[in-house]
Amino acid sequence: MTSHASLDWQDGQPVSPAFGDVYFSRESGLEETRHVFLAGNRLPERFAALPAGARFTIAETGFGTGLNFLAAWACFLAHAPADSRLSFVSTEKFPLRREDMARALALWPELERERDALLTQYGSLPSGWHRFLFEEGRVTLTLLVGDVLETLPELDAQVDAWFLDGFAPARNPDMWQPALFAQVARLCAPHGTFATFTSAGAVRRGLAEAGFAVRKVPGHGHKREMSIGELERPPQQGWQAPWYACPTPPVERSAIVIGGGIAGASTAFSLAERGWRVTLVERHPQLAQEASGNPQGVLYAKLSAHFPPLTRLILAGYGYTLRTLQARHPASEATWAPCGVLQLAYDEEEAARQQKLASAGLPDTLLHTVDQITASALAGLPMPSGGLFFPEGGWVNPPSLVERLATHPRITRRCGEAVLELDWNPEERLWVAQGERAALAMGAVVVLASAAEAAAFDSTRHLPLKRIRGQVTVTPATEASRALKTVLCGHSYISPVRYNTHCMGATFKFNTEDASVNLFEHQENLDMLSTLAPSVFHALGGPRQAMQALGGRAAFRCTTPDYLPLVGPVADAAAFNRVYAPLARDATEHLTTPAPWVPGLYVNTGHGSRGLITAPLSGEVIAACVEGEPAPLPRSLLNGLHPSRFLLRNLVRRKTPRPA
Ligand code: SAM
Repeated sequence: MTSHASLDWQDGQPVSPAFGDVYFSRESGLEETRHVFLAGNRLPERFAALPAGARFTIAETGFGTGLNFLAAWACFLAHAPADSRLSFVSTEKFPLRREDMARALALWPELERERDALLTQYGSLPSGWHRFLFEEGRVTLTLLVGDVLETLPELDAQVDAWFLDGFAPARNPDMWQPALFAQVARLCAPHGTFATFTSAGAVRRGLAEAGFAVRKVPGHGHKREMSIGELERPPQQGWQAPWYACPTPPVERSAIVIGGGIAGASTAFSLAERGWRVTLVERHPQLAQEASGNPQGVLYAKLSAHFPPLTRLILAGYGYTLRTLQARHPASEATWAPCGVLQLAYDEEEAARQQKLASAGLPDTLLHTVDQITASALAGLPMPSGGLFFPEGGWVNPPSLVERLATHPRITRRCGEAVLELDWNPEERLWVAQGERAALAMGAVVVLASAAEAAAFDSTRHLPLKRIRGQVTVTPATEASRALKTVLCGHSYISPVRYNTHCMGATFKFNTEDASVNLFEHQENLDMLSTLAPSVFHALGGPRQAMQALGGRAAFRCTTPDYLPLVGPVADAAAFNRVYAPLARDATEHLTTPAPWVPGLYVNTGHGSRGLITAPLSGEVIAACVEGEPAPLPRSLLNGLHPSRFLLRNLVRRKTPRPA
């Protein structure tokens, strides 16, 4: 696991004691950045020459203080056409703490605007990938936290310009390896370029061997030479599973998103931010009427110290949702509260799980253990045990977030209309969503974000989605219960007061289609609270609490057999089984036949009770896929979310009937 950088400050400038090197030139870091990385890659000219609507991708080794990123961003705004977009991918093994980054970047008042935007969103950065959106989606940053030799092999991108930073080769020989140069070449677009401050012979030779035409040019200030180059001989690309590839992006940027909950609103938002025209169709008269309709959802990150795919997804999604809230949804009683989340160590097994997590190398700003006294002080009421505290977490009113995301000049809502049929017009390459009386919307892409209903169409019937009923209980606050300051979680949860009520829950009921609220499940929620936090239970009135004062709502979550959501393009199941039938004989065969995609059809569903955490980032996954831009998640994790994974597993396990 990665840890934060620890810095020395010499004459007010950051130095890495671990590498014995400076983060940027003592004389003028910004001037050096402009000379080496911006001019070295001819960025001002190349930005100015971008066609309308084009995207430019920069990748960097060593994000450090973010100075290069901010300088590239400012240069892009100054030179590129107004509707062009910048994707910046940077990898960093030891991310700076926020306060160190703020101190380092305070040296460059010219970049104040960009710096403030970055710092607003910059929080805990555990190992893994982290997506940031700036300038209303025109500039994206994907920060790959981890060793460059582990992160880059998981990336798919067409990089136009590389910034090869990362401390002097003599001080950081582990990074400047042939394996790095091979990745730089693999990920480089035809005629992509690189620039680096070093002119070390091993680096120049390594890049030349990887396929670049390398030149030595004058360095900045007292540095005599640096290196720049262009990809001359693109390397052979290795085999990649075609069933997990992204289909070729459509030309027309219009989409129909079906489902007005958090998954649909997030997907519509991510597309609209990239210039797409989106019609968001919701069968209820308003958005957020089903599982996203609860008054208080919890930013609850249930992690495992073994870091399985679900934990890695939650870590990435938790940060992304927090950044979305911090940047676009000011905290208030109506919207959300960063009041912290306390996961109580309710038994020995849970205490052991929490201890393991706390020593797994995650940043302590993300989570740390607290003893019973501290837990009680944080909660504002006596707690039965200590626990794991997530200081950045809190509760969110999901309908307000859905409303915020769906309020965009490029999103048109069609509420109160159900899509009954989807018709593909192959000549126009457009979908038509048919309602009961008329066509509701047209678009090159359809994204089904309608929970289990996503499997209601001919093309999606094979998706294994199941419904789980959940009921929350809303109870009036009392004088005593207002003392609760933080969200409490265990087998159940309760939130601090919002508009004179608390929200607690939620039940899990399989094999029922009943959507009505019932007293048994209210009782169940109260029983769970009395076990989780007796002091809160008593503060609310204890066993004498009048049942008639309780309100609540029931809704259906949607989940999958492996509890990971389904996010990505949809394949034609029958054709998939035919084309990839040889995998039933040999699952390791490197088949190359392109997957038989249903044109322009995607899903974002199966988020269980974690939609607040995983659905917004999944919207970014879909948007990146249809735009052909770098994904916000590593390839292995994307494969774990891919809608075709069950088709594939069934083939390999020979559960698929042989094609006739
Ligand atoms: N580009 C940065 C900026 O604009 O502030 C300065 C980069 S600093 C000179 C070098 C960075 O590379 C450090 O933040 C260091 O932690 C990172 N680094 C060093 N070795 C690495 C590796 N193997 N993988 C990823 N990052 C690494």
